Amino acid sequence: MQTIFVLLKFYTNMVRFFIRLLCLALWLPLAPALVAAPHIPATVEVYYSPRGGCTEAIVKALRAAKVSVLVQAYSFTSPPIEDALAAAAKRGVKVQLILDRSNLTQKSSQLAEAVGDNLSIKIDAKHEIAHNKIMILDGETVITGSFNFTHNAEANNAENLLIIHSKELAASYTANWQEHDGHSELYDGETAAKTKKSERAAPHKTSFATR
Ligand SMILES: [Zn+2]
Repeated sequence: MQTIFVLLKFYTNMVRFFIRLLCLALWLPLAPALVAAPHIPATVEVYYSPRGGCTEAIVKALRAAKVSVLVQAYSFTSPPIEDALAAAAKRGVKVQLILDRSNLTQKSSQLAEAVGDNLSIKIDAKHEIAHNKIMILDGETVITGSFNFTHNAEANNAENLLIIHSKELAASYTANWQEHDGHSELYDGETAAKTKKSERAAPHKTSFATR
């Protein structure tokens, strides 16, 4: 009789073991997916060009900025956006721009005139094109999309723009911004003059103002 009980217990334990093994085998393929795709909570606004309110939305967001504005841009010829950045710097917001080297050839810039304690411009010449179009506001809002910060992007081009409110995403974009900041050079008149003189291998002959 006792032998039967021992055998029964053994078989019960074996069945439990295999059920646990089966559960583990079913769960394992799901595990990497759960780890690789963290949920980023965000609220998103979307705008489209031409004349779909992209510039207005950017200006509105910049007017609300309180602490910091980090920018990465390829082209920069939009007077309303330049004004909004300069105004933000004037009221004490720390504004830091990293621009593509094509910006060195532009003839005049409200932004260059606004360079001061709260507004700095760096040039990222490490890449064929520094093609990002990004603003990070107060470490909690990311503005990005195909939309260059230009009049043409607003008035003539087909573009899209997202304004994403997410501290988690802003932290990721800020880390990437800082990486580019590390190899970018501070912009001043001297740098611009030197670049013009040597006519460095500038691969983009497209005028800054035409995009
Ligand atoms: Zn870079």
